[in-house]
Amino acid sequence: MGTCSENRKSVPELFGSAVFNDDVMMERLPKDVYKSLRKTIDEGKDLDLTVANAVASAMKDWAVELGATHFTHWFQPLNGITAEKHDSFISPTSDGRVIMQFSGKELIKGEPDASSFPSGGLRATFEARGYTAWDPTSYAFVKGDSLYIPTAFCSYSGEVLDKKTPLLRSMEALSAQAVRILRLFGDGKTQQVVTTVGPEQEYFLIDKELYQQRPDLMFTGRTLFGASAPKGQELEDHYYGAIKPRVAEFMRDLDRELWKLGVLAKTKHNEVAPAQHELAPIFTTTNIACDHNQLTMEVMKNVADRHGLVCLLHEKPFEGVNGSGKHNNWSLSTDGGKNLLDPGKRPWENWPFLLILAAVVKGVDEYQDLLRISVASAGNDHRLGANEAPPAIISMFLGDELTAVLEAIEAGRPYACGKEKKLETGVRVLPDFSMDNTDRNRTSPFAFTGNKFEFRSLGSALSIACPNIMLNTIAAEELSQFASELETMDGPLPQCAEALVRRTIKEHKRIIFNGDGYSEAWIKEAERRGLLNLPTTVDALPRYLDQKNVALFTRHKIYTEAEMEARYETIMEEYVKTLRIESLTMLRMVRQDVIPAVSGYVTELAQGVAARRSVIASLPCTAESSLIASLSGLLDQAFAQAGDLEALLGAPQACSRNILTAGVHFRDQVIPAMEALRASVDQMERSASGACWPYPGYAELMFRI
Ligand code: ADP
Ligand code: MG
Repeated sequence: MGTCSENRKSVPELFGSAVFNDDVMMERLPKDVYKSLRKTIDEGKDLDLTVANAVASAMKDWAVELGATHFTHWFQPLNGITAEKHDSFISPTSDGRVIMQFSGKELIKGEPDASSFPSGGLRATFEARGYTAWDPTSYAFVKGDSLYIPTAFCSYSGEVLDKKTPLLRSMEALSAQAVRILRLFGDGKTQQVVTTVGPEQEYFLIDKELYQQRPDLMFTGRTLFGASAPKGQELEDHYYGAIKPRVAEFMRDLDRELWKLGVLAKTKHNEVAPAQHELAPIFTTTNIACDHNQLTMEVMKNVADRHGLVCLLHEKPFEGVNGSGKHNNWSLSTDGGKNLLDPGKRPWENWPFLLILAAVVKGVDEYQDLLRISVASAGNDHRLGANEAPPAIISMFLGDELTAVLEAIEAGRPYACGKEKKLETGVRVLPDFSMDNTDRNRTSPFAFTGNKFEFRSLGSALSIACPNIMLNTIAAEELSQFASELETMDGPLPQCAEALVRRTIKEHKRIIFNGDGYSEAWIKEAERRGLLNLPTTVDALPRYLDQKNVALFTRHKIYTEAEMEARYETIMEEYVKTLRIESLTMLRMVRQDVIPAVSGYVTELAQGVAARRSVIASLPCTAESSLIASLSGLLDQAFAQAGDLEALLGAPQACSRNILTAGVHFRDQVIPAMEALRASVDQMERSASGACWPYPGYAELMFRI
């Protein structure tokens, strides 16, 4: 949508038109102010207040021209979404009028009340006051009637309460260690190594009117009941299928909205499940990719709403078809733009590359638990290991060529490189082309895909901050160990590097698995290799606070131990709260809608039988009688199961102050009770009349659009 003039804009004109980006800064800021600001952005130099005042004033003028009346510090608290509080620019004058004002102070620092954001117990030791601090490395933008200023968020006593601060810290930690490695190989120029991320985002679109008839979708984002439709994804006709006009219109609008905000929306297509789609942006610096992914999720919801649609970002909206994930494509590049995960033409002698690769292999092996934890949530538990997403077991896919290179190094023999493969199409009019030297593996949680790693275990609703904090910190740790060792080793550098890579591969090759991650055989094999299999959030999360993990994060100054405890509490609490809300929603639906509807239907059947038998007493009425019997049985069963579920929610363990006790109770008791109740209700849906059923079913939700 947007205004008419916006609709006429060409894409290059539209792109970034709502962003206070480098071009705008250069145009609008006095030269010396611009220079100081660039220094702050590029080198982290402190910003003095006069510069901040000049930037704020220029930002305000620019934003007002775009229709903004307010500004907001925009931050990312621990609940995984974004937070904003809007202040208008108005400032009263002595003669009773107002002018629009925005100061450097207001730009740099905000003071939102922190008391209602999750703090995982840190709240006991801190005051309600919290601070937001401008992150100049992510551009401000205008959305609606506000100027949005990306900020970090911390408590009065200095504890970090958000996802951006540790992400920025992890990027700096990794940069420092990667630069050390580059220095060893004679690179004196690179000042910074940045991590880059391109997150592929899956989502469902359904009709808003149907959505509003389902309390489960409204309260929990997923269907808690629902018999399968006659058709699901088995014909594989939705994946990459032609996009329906209504969806295409939504996608068109979405792209334009995102482009305006400077988001590099690139790829769109239908996904595997009916009504499922994907959007992928072009990769960018991790910090910005993270901000942009949060924006993308939000804009998806808003644009869907304008089209009479609802965008579902839940990891498992529908049982029986695929859920939604997010692929975190991750790489490292120098400030000069060189991708350090690019193997080049001769990977076997590209030592910086091989060292980074070996560091990642070692890191993924040593911190399998952290990677698993970084994607843990009640929603994502439905996907991992369910043969639609990678298993809960973390392993790595390297592909044929790199595996062969590493095997040769391990064996101490030269690598015999394979010939470039050509694909001959066998059709004269089609050109032959050279093939990639690695095939794709869709079942691996962590796959090397040519010049980046693709971490595939993320759930669709997840903020990408946490997985990237883990990845960056783990890589920083391993590279720091490598750098320290290489700095003190005697002998020519390539030989030292080779010895180090050889030893690393020998010790950590168990994490490399190029086969089918969905197979039963892999679960056994992984167990034999001693890899962790942590199927649920409750299995994984307690390991967060293991000594080695606390040591990792404190050593690199990403978190204090107290901040880690807080994060553990927050995630486990969210797990428990999510399941409680889902359970309560089920109880409400069963008691208020399902039982009355089915009971009414059974009564109707019974009255029909009685009426007919009053005419012909010997009528068998087999269909009605058996339906009355089976539905009555299911009604009683569902009624009892609802009672059981309610009792479990009231059990002392469910409300335990020990969050792990509560988590275990929900995993072992509540979830099975929810599943039992669902089975009865779905069985009723299959037998009751469509007219009596209180909700739109799977067929309508997924196919009527
Ligand atoms: P596929 O679905 O085959 O995995 P896509 O093209 O949908 O591939 O997504 C690949 C993603 O990887 C894109 O977001 C792309 O920008 C990103 N990507 C490519 N190169 C890099 C890199 N060097 N660092 C981070 N992400 C990258
Ligand atoms: Mg992908």
